[in-house]
Amino acid sequence: MQKTTTKLADGRELIYFDADGTAADRNYSDLRPLEPTTALSEIRRDPVTGDHVTVAAHRQGRTYHPPADECPLCPSRDGRLSEVPAPEYQVAVFENRFPSLALGAAEHVATDRTAFHETVPGAGRCEVVCFTPEHDASFASLTEQKARLVLDAWTDRTAELSALPGIEQVYCFENRGVEIGVTLAHPHGQVYAFPFVTPRTVKTAAAATAHRAATGRNLFEDLIADQLAHPERVVLAGEHWTAFVPFAARWPYEVHLYPNRRTPDLTGLDEAQRAEFPGIYLELLRRFDRLFDTDAPTPYISAWHQAPAGHRDELALHLELFTIRRTVGKLKFLAGTESGMDAFMNDVSPEQAAHRLREVATHG
Ligand SMILES: [Zn+2]
Repeated sequence: MQKTTTKLADGRELIYFDADGTAADRNYSDLRPLEPTTALSEIRRDPVTGDHVTVAAHRQGRTYHPPADECPLCPSRDGRLSEVPAPEYQVAVFENRFPSLALGAAEHVATDRTAFHETVPGAGRCEVVCFTPEHDASFASLTEQKARLVLDAWTDRTAELSALPGIEQVYCFENRGVEIGVTLAHPHGQVYAFPFVTPRTVKTAAAATAHRAATGRNLFEDLIADQLAHPERVVLAGEHWTAFVPFAARWPYEVHLYPNRRTPDLTGLDEAQRAEFPGIYLELLRRFDRLFDTDAPTPYISAWHQAPAGHRDELALHLELFTIRRTVGKLKFLAGTESGMDAFMNDVSPEQAAHRLREVATHG
């Protein structure tokens, strides 16, 4: 993988990732009239739940509004200027122009440690990952080689962002579909570098610590062993990866994908794991698109869980993929029980979901 780091007109970083030996000229300047933006986001701690909440209400700076018919993630071509100045690319990553978290927030937002008003600057980083230059493609339509390049880009971003001062957790994810609230159709994902440990990871770490105290063993190693011993919820088992519907799935169709050999984050994957991942992940995404009897692409969220610095001994890298679609034309909304109480109600049994996800496997 070849990596070329450049700057956009307003000073944001843009990074091209190219497969070895195929990098073209990456020396294109961003010709747009962009003013730097100022991120004034702050992170408040809820004194009742202990959760961190990012408040990014103030965003300053002149906005450059491209015409609606010009995709900002397509390469810059035919006089149309986008976020990627080159006329073509393979995988491109750039800092979000209006980020929820930005390292610069530290210069503008004061830290407050007083009780009931705990506030720190939203000093993190938000990046956009363009998976392909092809506007009408999807992740599921990528070749294994292209998907591997995205994996390598995620890995690079994890290593680099984890090393930044104050960053606690790096989160790579994709929101797919208008039902999820995606406004740009161009295939892309995001990377958030959080200056705190996210609420879900705090909970997971506590479960792993309790499991270690009770059994002397690692929670995730026992979890994988349990899936393999009870294969009714296993969806796809490779030599190095296992995909299953969790025993207590929260979403109608939810798959968790783990490397069989535990590693804290993407940087810990070995070559055998990295080589097998694209085939497994692409197959899962293609099965998601076949779940429902409709041509409409399945909306999904794909979320990489990676261990923060203080939890590398017990947590395990894995990917959680789920759709909010229950059936054709029906979405699962987070309503009273889920939004009000974090208490999920699932209409599809995890065993039925796993059966369906095996049924729609690619044949031949
Ligand atoms: Zn596009």
